[in-house]
Parts: sequence; structure tokens; C-alpha cells
Amino acid sequence: MGQRLSCAGSSYDRDFFTAVQAGHLETVRSAVDEDPSLLRRTTVYDRLSALHIAAANGHVEILSMLLEKYANPDIVNRHKQTPLMLAAIHGKIACVQKLLEAGANILMFDSINGRTCLHHAAYYGHSNCLQAILSAAPILVADSWGFARFVNVGDDNGATPLHLAARQRRPECVHILLDNGALVCVSTGGYGHPGSTPLHLAARGGSLDCVRELLAWGADRLQRDSSGQIPYVVALKRNHGACAALLNPSAAEPLVWPSPLKFISELDPDAKALLEAALMEANKEREKKILKGTKYLVLSPANSDEVVDDMSEASDSDLCSICFHQVCTIEVRDCGHQMCAHCTLSLCCHNKPNPTTLSVPSPSCPFCRCNISRLVVAKTKAADEGDNATNSMLRRSRRSRNFSGGSGSFKGLTLAIGSFGRMGRGSGRIMDSDDTVDKP
Ligand SMILES: [Zn+2]
Ligand SMILES: [Zn+2]
Repeated sequence: MGQRLSCAGSSYDRDFFTAVQAGHLETVRSAVDEDPSLLRRTTVYDRLSALHIAAANGHVEILSMLLEKYANPDIVNRHKQTPLMLAAIHGKIACVQKLLEAGANILMFDSINGRTCLHHAAYYGHSNCLQAILSAAPILVADSWGFARFVNVGDDNGATPLHLAARQRRPECVHILLDNGALVCVSTGGYGHPGSTPLHLAARGGSLDCVRELLAWGADRLQRDSSGQIPYVVALKRNHGACAALLNPSAAEPLVWPSPLKFISELDPDAKALLEAALMEANKEREKKILKGTKYLVLSPANSDEVVDDMSEASDSDLCSICFHQVCTIEVRDCGHQMCAHCTLSLCCHNKPNPTTLSVPSPSCPFCRCNISRLVVAKTKAADEGDNATNSMLRRSRRSRNFSGGSGSFKGLTLAIGSFGRMGRGSGRIMDSDDTVDKP
């Protein structure tokens, strides 16, 4: 780790930069007090300032001290990289936060590939740094730029941070970026031009988790890159068999989040966690079927806990009245009807959003047809008793997954949704403040 200091000029400078790299706070402080021009001095070859060296090595006390002494947070090195970029590359989260607090410019592009600090955090897979930059971005990005543009900015090769995270097998970063408005079908060739999508690059990298994440967000398996290849072919060529199986256009379609940009951001965080877990469960069930009989199906130890699941905790009145298998975990506002996370997802996902306009028909409650203004975690007696409602609900949701028995969860859900039209009005449950009542 660290930056090469070997080419530093005078021994005076060299000693100073060595002290910064080693994290000797007091030595650095007295040197700067004695000679403030050291703040602007750089190493000879890479042109690293003291701020760069402190940031890259995670010496947040030295970094803070230098910033207080009016060091310019946006000073660039030989490759036009800022201290913030180096902190993001090396995953030094405390330094990233400090620099963001100091108002570091997140809209700087380096001269190697024209990448921002967000590209670097995504490429190196430092999800905490990525999240910190994204959290600060709405304030730091000028109005003329806008948050969405920052998240989706391409480097010199047209790669967005999402492309890089997918290529480098960073599923957590892929997830965070999608959650913050990264466009899932963006092409490296620019909008509407042939190029690689994040799904092509995930196929090349061979990360099943990245492929799954992108598909759940509505990535298109049929989009072609500049050589006319779909992601399936890219995965095949690289011998990523499991990825190829999921990317095969003839394999069953995965369950997809309702609307990439809008719906998610308005979602109650606890309800969102439940829905995300349900979506991933449904898609993993689907994967198992696709990979069954191939050499790629690896049963994780986590699968063993579904066998011992039992429904003893859930009384009949807790059960979702759409599928009759899962416990109600999601409540529709304003009407108060409840259903399980799986059914909620299917309800919202059966209409795929239009990829060009990202518009999606607004979902309505299957019981009373009122517009869904908000989805929250359903309040039940069992959850109230628990110390952590969400965790308890997640456990309950997982516990009740033995419903997939014959027809399989995904198919079962589709059937359940298909039967909405035939269902009598009022079969949903409404939780009152103190009791459960059936709507007449
Ligand atoms: Zn259900
Ligand atoms: Zn309703």
C-alpha cells in the first residue's frame, strides 16, 4: 500500500513525506508549522501532496490537521487524481468522510481513464466509501449537474460506476448504485448506441451475484453489445456456465423490481428490506430450477434451515389471504390491507416498467383497488413482542417458505396474482388498532 516516495526531491521534502506516510502526526504538524509551504509541495515524480499520502494511507488525524491548515482538498497529482480519489481507491472510509466534510469536489475526473471518485470506489469494491460519496452527493453536486447525472457519468470508455462494479464482481456496490438511480440498461456507447451494458460486463466477470442483482433490476438479457452479442454469449465464451444459464433468454424470467428509480426511494426502509429478501428468495428458487441437473448448482449451508421451518408460530389469521402460505408482513397504506412480501412483489412486478420511459402503472391494492400510497411493515402481535421487528419479520418470512413444495414459489405466485380478478372483494385482512376484522 501507499505511494512511492523514492523520487522525492530534497532530503528535507523526503523526510516530510516519509513522516506523513508513517503517520507521525506531531512530526508532520511541527514541520508544517515551521514551513507552511510544505502544504503545496509534492513528490517529484507522481506529484503527490501530503494530503494525497495521508488519504491513501488512511491517516485521518494528519489529513484533518492538514485540512485545518488550509490545504486545498482538491489538489491533484500527476494523474489529476484528488486525495478523495486515492482514499476511495484504498478504501480509507474515515479519510473519505473527512474530505467530503471539507467540501472536496466529487466531480473531478482523473487523466488516466477520466474517472471520478465514484468510479474508483465502485471499481475497487469499497461499498462503504461508495455509500458515503453517494450520501454526500446531493449537496456537493452542483445544480447544473444533478445527482442522476453524477451517478451515471461515463469514463473515457463510456463505463459508468455500475459498469465497473459489475465487471469487477462487486455485488454490494452494484446493489448500492442501482438503489441510488444507476441506470441498469445504460450502454458504454452512450444512450441508444451499441455498447456493453452492465449485464454484459457482469457476464464477462462471471459474478452470479452481480448477474442476479442486475436481472432483478430489469436488466435486458436481449440487449446486444457493439459486436452484436447478448450477455448470454459473453458468459458462454468466458466459460461462466452458471451465469450463462441465468442469462439464457430461454430460461424463466426473473422477478423484477417494480420501478428502478421511483418506487424504491419512496419505500419505507423496513418494508423495503422485507421485499428485497422476498425478491431474492423467489429468484433463488428460480435459479435452483434453472441450474438443477447442471454441475453449477451449489447448495449453500443456508438451505438447511428451511427444512426445519415450521409454521407453529403463525396462526391462520396471520396467513396471507392471497397465497395462504406466507405470513402477512406488508401493510398497504392507506387502506390497511395486509399480505405477504412475496405477493406484494408479484402484485407490483407483474407489469414490467417500460425501459425507455421508466414509467410503470401505479400499483393498486388487490383487495380494494385503492392506490397504494405507501408500503410498510405490517404490525402484528408477534412482531411487537420482538426486540427487533424487522429481523423478526424477516425470520418469519423465511420460516414460512416451505410453500414452494409442488409448483414452486414463483409459479405459485404468478398463479395467485392471476387469480386476483376472480377473487371476491374483501378477502384481505385489515389490522385495526387492536383487532383483526374482515372487510365486508
Ligand atoms: Zn401471499
Ligand atoms: Zn386495500
